[in-house]
Amino acid sequence: MKTDDRVLVTGGAGFIGSHLCERLVAAGDEVLCVDNFFTGRRANVASLLGHPNFEIMRHDITCPLFVEVDRIFNLACPASPIHYQFDPVQTTKTSVHGAINMLGLAKRVRAKILQASTSEVYGDPEVHPQPEEYWGRVNPIGVRACYDEGKRCAETLFFDYYRQHNVAIKVIRIFNTYGPRMHPNDGRVVSNFIVQALQNQDITIYGRGEQTRSFCYVDDLIDGMLKMMDSDADLVGPINMGNPRELSIIQLAETVLSLVGGRSKLVFKPLPKDDPKQRQPDISKAKSSLGWEPQVSLEDGLARTIDYFRRQICE
Ligand code: NAD
Ligand code: UDP
Repeated sequence: MKTDDRVLVTGGAGFIGSHLCERLVAAGDEVLCVDNFFTGRRANVASLLGHPNFEIMRHDITCPLFVEVDRIFNLACPASPIHYQFDPVQTTKTSVHGAINMLGLAKRVRAKILQASTSEVYGDPEVHPQPEEYWGRVNPIGVRACYDEGKRCAETLFFDYYRQHNVAIKVIRIFNTYGPRMHPNDGRVVSNFIVQALQNQDITIYGRGEQTRSFCYVDDLIDGMLKMMDSDADLVGPINMGNPRELSIIQLAETVLSLVGGRSKLVFKPLPKDDPKQRQPDISKAKSSLGWEPQVSLEDGLARTIDYFRRQICE
């Protein structure tokens, strides 16, 4: 199967990017995966290496890229706090210079371009759940700002290229997403808890564990991303994508423990700085304009993710 559509996925060797590449290749698209392998791994796209419709290129999107493509999914950017805070200047450059380079490319070759933005643009929100109209509450000089403000500036650039240069844009704001191929050491809560539970280690709860998040299984997110990319030209976003089922971090730990079993105990560690207290997407727009809402329950998604990590740990 071949659609003749050439699709660029930046960050394609990362967690979400690798699932997207697989879905695009399966749909018959010709996929160019661009990645600097900061957090991504060739192993994530192992099933695609050698496929005639798949190509992988080592490239950092802070540098210009000249390729001929019809659609661009801009996902390149470390997403876990420990990775994006490792080299914060590079994180801002990836979001800002990267967006300028990819928007410049989209403008030159008249490609449609989708930005993987984030719920972090809402910061530590005072409005709950978060609708797209909410402008957010971000500390511009805090340790999370390299990511939050970088992504906010990228959104600004997307909307200015749209208004000023008529570039066909799509912006989605992704809420916490999990699934197979999360990096086992990237410090995100779902991967941490599963790996700790599988190894009978203590489950590390930051703060009192009362802060909330809403977790979306990766397959659901990919469905939404593809629907958004294929939507009418006047639907530019931003559109929230996430699972509205909200739970506290303690509840997540208890759910993971009940699914894995084992002897782990909960231990409490200091809360990282600027850690948002609550987060839940209002997905009314995604429902009404795309007919999209998550289908995979937390228990099913966690069970699939646990299977993945169990295989990784045993290998
Ligand atoms: P990830 O870290 O697994 O993937 C990011 C990929 O981008 C990696 O393969 C990394 O090597 C690559 N990359 C980083 N900087 C780059 C650069 N300068 N040039 C080229 N490649 C670069 O993270 P993920 O969870 O798959 O996130 C993908 C995208 O989705 C990110 O833009 C992230 O901000 C966004 N997002 C993710 C979540 C989530 O919960 N997973 C939530 C909100 C937004
Ligand atoms: N968290 C935790 N233990 C861990 C890792 C994370 O309690 O081992 C907490 C973290 O403080 C935050 C929530 O889980 O409140 C989600 O953290 P993650 O890094 O996954 O994502 P983000 O904070 O960006 O939503």
